Amino acid sequence: MKQSKRGVQGLTVVGSVALDTIKTPYGQVERALGGSAVYFSCAARFFTQVRLVGVVGDDFLNQHVALLEKLGIDLTGLERVKGKTFHWKGRYTDNLNEAITEKTELNVFANFVPKLLKQHVESQYLFLANIHPKIQYQVLQDVARPKWIACDTMNFWIQSARKDLLQVLKHVDISLMNDSEIKMFTGEHQIAKAVKALMKLGPKIVIVKRGEYGAWCFCGKKYYAMPAVLLSELKDPTGAGDSFAGGFLGYLAKSGKTSAETVKDAAVYGTVVASFNVQSFSLDRLALLTQRELIKRRSDYLKSIL
Ligand code: AMP
Repeated sequence: MKQSKRGVQGLTVVGSVALDTIKTPYGQVERALGGSAVYFSCAARFFTQVRLVGVVGDDFLNQHVALLEKLGIDLTGLERVKGKTFHWKGRYTDNLNEAITEKTELNVFANFVPKLLKQHVESQYLFLANIHPKIQYQVLQDVARPKWIACDTMNFWIQSARKDLLQVLKHVDISLMNDSEIKMFTGEHQIAKAVKALMKLGPKIVIVKRGEYGAWCFCGKKYYAMPAVLLSELKDPTGAGDSFAGGFLGYLAKSGKTSAETVKDAAVYGTVVASFNVQSFSLDRLALLTQRELIKRRSDYLKSIL
């Protein structure tokens, strides 16, 4: 990584931009807008300028581009190439905490080499959203040292690209994984031990996502339990982790602070934004979400926890 002098305000995210086919007990969608970088951006936009780096194929609809632009997301880093957009097909049973992957078609991501522009290279905050760890590592080679680097991943990459992921984690400040992933990755079956093992590999902040049970937020020696917002209606948990990450890192980028208290406040925002996302399929709810609704639900949530 190159040394940065001051850095560019805002947040750069590199990750999947997808067409998702999803079935939950409450409905289904075919080739709907999704992807880790997309959910992340739509959540983080409430806090700071978000710049998305990714690739789509010629089947990616102009209306998806128009929506993301309308939401204020900087798409100068979104490449469009010949071929098909990344496609994920998944389903959920009554256990909404676990997605069952039926198909992962990398398509244009198979040969993707991110081309970072000055504003990405010098970004103060970087999110390596869920995508092949090799792509995440390539980005790390090109950026100037940001203030915070956060990284997400999933079982698919833990199993198929473990070595690359280990390389990435060495340079990362914040790691987000769900509880079964961190256990699988570290080989530890108790969360506290798994977090300790993960911290030894690089990250000093670890977020353990626990679906409807919320998240554990470990910050050095301190830790916080964040219950999820209790919802009267949930439709599709896809993107919950990414939108949590968007609210979380977006808030950190906005505040510019690095204290454990700020990390805790950021996790509250992550929890609250994610709760909106799971109330609809695709980006339907997040795209309509207003700052006012976000603030109101945050205040109700804070009253609901001890
Ligand atoms: P989440 O529910 O927050 O873990 O993320 C859901 C999003 O991740 C979906 O929109 C998918 O398109 C995307 N996704 C699924 N599998 C992968 C993968 N192997 N690499 C990158 N993105 C993926």
